[in-house]
Amino acid sequence: MKFNTKLENIKTYETGKPIELVVREFGINPKDIIKLASNENPFGCSQKVKDAVVDIVSKMSLYPDDSMTKLKDALSKRFGVKDENIIIGSGSDQIIEFAIHAKASSSSKILINSVTFAMYEIYAKHVGARIIRTASQHHDLDEFYKLYQEQKPEIIFLCTPNNPTGDAIDAGELFDFIAKIDTETLVIIDGAYMEYAIGKDVAKKVDPKELIEKFDNVLYLGTFSKVYGLGGMRVGYGISNSKIIKELYKLRPPFNITTLSLEAASVALNDEEFVNKCIISNFEEMKRYEEFAKEKKIDIIESHTNFVTLCLNSTYNSSQIAQELLEKGMIIRDLSSYGMNAIRVTIGKKEQNNRFFELLSEIIQS
Ligand SMILES: *Cc1c(COP(=O)(O)O)cnc(C)c1O
Repeated sequence: MKFNTKLENIKTYETGKPIELVVREFGINPKDIIKLASNENPFGCSQKVKDAVVDIVSKMSLYPDDSMTKLKDALSKRFGVKDENIIIGSGSDQIIEFAIHAKASSSSKILINSVTFAMYEIYAKHVGARIIRTASQHHDLDEFYKLYQEQKPEIIFLCTPNNPTGDAIDAGELFDFIAKIDTETLVIIDGAYMEYAIGKDVAKKVDPKELIEKFDNVLYLGTFSKVYGLGGMRVGYGISNSKIIKELYKLRPPFNITTLSLEAASVALNDEEFVNKCIISNFEEMKRYEEFAKEKKIDIIESHTNFVTLCLNSTYNSSQIAQELLEKGMIIRDLSSYGMNAIRVTIGKKEQNNRFFELLSEIIQS
């Protein structure tokens, strides 16, 4: 059977290996498996969220409130924007999909960082758009600008902090960059880890309200999958000019967010105490990763997120190290598919991190 030729060059997105799979493949007791592969919050989500979801579980038989008023109100209060500036997606992934489908076609170009979130390229291929990459690994805005002038892309993605490297762009520099871009080009700021970045350095804080007040061609993305600990609920949001939001809405399937997910996200947004505790623990534990890397003479990229990227020297092979860790029940991310001899490790709870230090030490000593 023949399929849409646009699908021919698409590699299926590789998610972090689920624990269930490791149990089956290696016969390891699920209790002994630690997953530090998908940048999930090791503390899970707020207890208030769990209680709220249990309270409304009987509403499962009804279709969700498709106006999503409760969550939109919570977001508009948080960010000081109007409901008409917000769209909710099944993860911010879905909003990336909407945005690319809304703006790009087979004659389009999409400019991204050399190493960045893999879904930009996958959705670009859906519409047959061409991906243009920088050479620099860390968002070099001068290089972005040069490529923008040469290539005239329809969309520019800036992932700050970036996944899988963890580096973040200074907000001032980001605003100066966008000011130089023509208003026909859509600039997408992916802030999946923004809460962490702000916790580390306010100079990295990109404020969606300020963005959309200054620029009509910017879409800001946020998610509940990372610091809010709701990866399994699939909720993300986009904030933009109301005209852009209207276009994205044309691509949205009805009821794209479940009743339980809408409730969970609304409550999660209001438990700031939980989020702040998680961020504090994250950076305390990150220091231990930095010390560990220093001691073992492994390069670590300065991170503004809940993960660290360890760049290995040529004595080691990241795929092999990831595999050996996996066989010992530790799931992390090999970055060889990004062209890096590196591994990405989500910062877990103290005991989980201890176990990682122990296992990696064992492996590199043998
Ligand atoms: C995790 C992540 C997302 C989106 O995750 P969803 O679960 O789809 O909301 C988007 N961008 C980056 C860079 C991410 O790391």
